[in-house]
Amino acid sequence: MSGSERVRDIVIVGGGAAGWLTAGVLAAEHRAGQKDDRRDGGIRVTVVESPDVRTLGVGEGTWPSMRDTLRRMGVSESAFVTACDASFKQASRFAGWVTGAADDHYYHPFSAPQGYGEVNLVPAWSELNGSPRFADLVSFQPQLCEQGRAPKQSATPEFAAVANYAYHLDAGKFGSFLQQFCTTQLGVRHLRGHVTGICARDNGDIAALKLQEQEALTGDLFIDCTGFSAVLLDGHYGIPYVGVGDVLFCDTAVAAQVPYPGAEAPIASATLATAREAGWIWDIGLPTRRGVGYVYSGAHTTAEAARQTLADYIRQTGGGEMPEPRGIALNPGYRETFWHRNCVAVGISAGFIEPLEASALALIELAARMIGDELPPTRALMDVVARRFNERFRTRWGRIVDFLKLHYLLSRRDDSAFWIDNRVPGSVPDRLRELLELWRFRPPSSRDFPESEEIFPAASHQYVLYGMGFRPERSVHRRRLDDPQVAAQCFQAVAQRARKYLAGLPTNRELLDHVRAHGLPRV
Ligand SMILES: Cc1cc2nc3c(=O)[nH]c(=O)nc-3n(C[C@H](O)[C@H](O)[C@H](O)COP(=O)(O)OP(=O)(O)OC[C@H]3O[C@@H](n4cnc5c(N)ncnc54)[C@H](O)[C@@H]3O)c2cc1C
Repeated sequence: MSGSERVRDIVIVGGGAAGWLTAGVLAAEHRAGQKDDRRDGGIRVTVVESPDVRTLGVGEGTWPSMRDTLRRMGVSESAFVTACDASFKQASRFAGWVTGAADDHYYHPFSAPQGYGEVNLVPAWSELNGSPRFADLVSFQPQLCEQGRAPKQSATPEFAAVANYAYHLDAGKFGSFLQQFCTTQLGVRHLRGHVTGICARDNGDIAALKLQEQEALTGDLFIDCTGFSAVLLDGHYGIPYVGVGDVLFCDTAVAAQVPYPGAEAPIASATLATAREAGWIWDIGLPTRRGVGYVYSGAHTTAEAARQTLADYIRQTGGGEMPEPRGIALNPGYRETFWHRNCVAVGISAGFIEPLEASALALIELAARMIGDELPPTRALMDVVARRFNERFRTRWGRIVDFLKLHYLLSRRDDSAFWIDNRVPGSVPDRLRELLELWRFRPPSSRDFPESEEIFPAASHQYVLYGMGFRPERSVHRRRLDDPQVAAQCFQAVAQRARKYLAGLPTNRELLDHVRAHGLPRV
C-alpha cells in the first residue's frame, strides 16, 4: 500500500466484546455495509475470530457511555436488554473499604452531585462531620439504589433516563448479540480462522494475516482484539507491556455464576463491591442470575483461601453452595504503544487492570470511537493519527491507575497486609500524591481532569474521596462557589428529587419484566 492509497479494508482480529464493539462502531459510522460504499469512499469491516480460542466471557458491568454507543450503532435498547439478559446499573456500592465495619459503605453514583460545577457542596457537607454520607447528601441516586429502583419508567423512551444509568449484562450473550447485529444490520463480514502469523510489507506494515489452513487475509488497517494473547501487537511486533502490579496488587480473579433464591428476587441497581482481606468481591445482578467474583492479590492470599472467601460470601448473601468457579490470571498493565504502524490494539490486547469501576468496556468504546472519528483516509496520514491515539490512551490508562489506587490508598483497614501494603508511599503514583495535596484545600475539579473525554471526571473522584472519609481542611480562601446557603438549597433539592423519584419509579425487576414483555418506546 503506498502512502496515498486509501484506507478501505479494516480487518479486526478477535470476536470478543472488543472485536464486535469496534466493528459495530466503525461500520455504523462509515456505513460499511451499504452497496457501492467502498467505491464511494466507504470501508469494509471484517472480523476474523479463532474457532479454537474462546472469548473471555466475563465483563458484565458497563459505563453509561454504552447507551450512546449502542444508540449510535442503531441497536434497539429493548432488543439488547432482552437478548443480553441485561439490567440497569446506576452506581457502584463499596462495602468494607474504609474500616471493614458493618456500617462501612458508600456509593459512587452515575449522576453528578447536585449543582455540579456551579456550587461546591464539600464545605457545607464537612460541617456535618461525615453524617450523612457525602453521596447520600449530594445525590438522590443512592436512595434509588438502596430500594432497588429502576432509573426510568416504562414510558421513558429507549436510552433516555430519569437517573443516569449503565448496564449489567451477560458477557457471552452480549458477544453473540453484537455479532448478529453487526453481520445482519451493518454489513460486517465475519470469518472464522486462526491467525498464525503475518505477511509483512517492506516498510514493516502488515500486508496480510496468515490463517491456519486458509488463504491469507489482506487489509489496510488491522485491529488487534485478540485479548490476553495480543497476537499482532505483542506476538508480531513485540510491543512492551507496562506492568502496574507495583501500584495495583490484584492479579487474579475467581468467578462464579449464582442463581437467585426465587424468580422474584430483587435485582440490585448497583454493582456491589465488597472488600475482603486480599482484594474485593464484585456482585452483579442480572435478571436471571448473579455474576460474582473475587479479585485478589496472589501475593497476599492463596488460591484455596480465595475460593473459600468467595464461597463464604455467596453463602452469606443467599446464593447457597458455590457452583464450580473459574480462575482467571490477570497481568495488570497496558502496552507502551497501542497503535504501531498499521496495527492498533483495542480491548484486553491493549491492556487490562482489575475490574474495579468497570472501565474496560468504556475504554473499548472510546478507542473504537477515536478510530472511527479519525480514521485516516490514507496510509500517509496514519502515523499522525497513531501518534495522537497513543498519547490520548497513555493518558487514559495513567488516569485509570490513579483513580483505582485512590480506592485503596484512602482505606484505614489494617487487618491484613494487603490493605497496609496499599498505603506504602512507594506504591502511590506521583500525580495522585500531588492531587491529594491539592484536594486537602479544594475538591477535585475539572482543572484536574482537563481532557474532553475523561473516563473518570472530577465528580467520580469526589464520590470516592469523600465516600472514603477524606476530610478537607477549612479553606484559607472564601470562594464564591462555597456559599452555604446555595449548598443548603442543593441538599433540599436532592431530598425532593429522591422523594419524587421513589414515588414514581418501578423496581429494577418490574421495569425489566416490562421491557422483556412489551419493550420501551423507540425514539
Ligand atoms: C475477571 C474480569 C472481570 C471483568 N469485569 C469487567 C467489567 O465489569 N466491566 C468491564 O467493562 N470489563 C470487565 N472486564 C474486561 C472485559 O471482560 C473485557 O474488556 C472484554 O471482555 C473484552 O475482551 P476482548 O474482546 O478484548 O478479549 P476476548 O474476549 O478474550 O476475545 C479475544 C478474541 O480473540 C480471538 N483470538 C485470540 N487469538 C486468536 C488468533 N490467533 N487468531 C484469531 N483470533 C484469535 C478469540 O477467539 C476471541 O474471539 C473484566 C475482565 C476480567 C478478566
